[in-house]
Amino acid sequence: MALRAKRLFGNKTFEVLADKGYYQAKDLEKCTEKGITLYVTKQTHANTTKDQAFYSDQFKYNKTKNTYLCPAGKELHYHRIRKKDRKIIGYEYRNFDACQDCKFKARCTRAQKGRSIFRHVKQDLLDRIDTQTKENFKKYKLRQMIVEHPFGTIKRGWGAYYFLTRRKVSVSAEISLSFLAYNLKRVINILGTEEILKRLRQRGNVVPV
Ligand code: SF4
Repeated sequence: MALRAKRLFGNKTFEVLADKGYYQAKDLEKCTEKGITLYVTKQTHANTTKDQAFYSDQFKYNKTKNTYLCPAGKELHYHRIRKKDRKIIGYEYRNFDACQDCKFKARCTRAQKGRSIFRHVKQDLLDRIDTQTKENFKKYKLRQMIVEHPFGTIKRGWGAYYFLTRRKVSVSAEISLSFLAYNLKRVINILGTEEILKRLRQRGNVVPV
């Protein structure tokens, strides 16, 4: 969608705001390659114990040493490559010896041997996008005001929690009608019917009354 929108706007400088549901490394990379500036919040890195002090983002990466420093101050070393469908998806870091003597082990992991940290193969890019998003958080917040309002109104205000029709063509028509009604209501709220009619008359799009 971002690439299509960029084309429609004539390939100008383009910034995209998206929520964590769109945080897919493959898509983020594609957009970055096409020169799109992204502001996307990352997904929460929960661990099995649900203790936030030991979420994976609490483990600090040291690029020079290629190690992670855990919340207990222990270094986790590179252990192995992780693959999926024969493709490298990332790398695993661990230090089971340190975990065995660690007083925080029960808070950090439920794995008997100790904690492992996964580093995504595109982690450097993801980190850059995270920094970019944090530095422009005011812009990112605009997304909630602009995008959440229509969905909130249509779903919660008008009770359209589910579709009444089936099949893509019918569902597309149904949602288009909902958004048409939303847009009309919004423009009436902002401008008022008199002003809308005045502007339409100026454009010659409406028969004068
Ligand atoms: S269990 Fe291991 S990784 Fe977790 S805090 Fe202790 S030493 Fe660090």
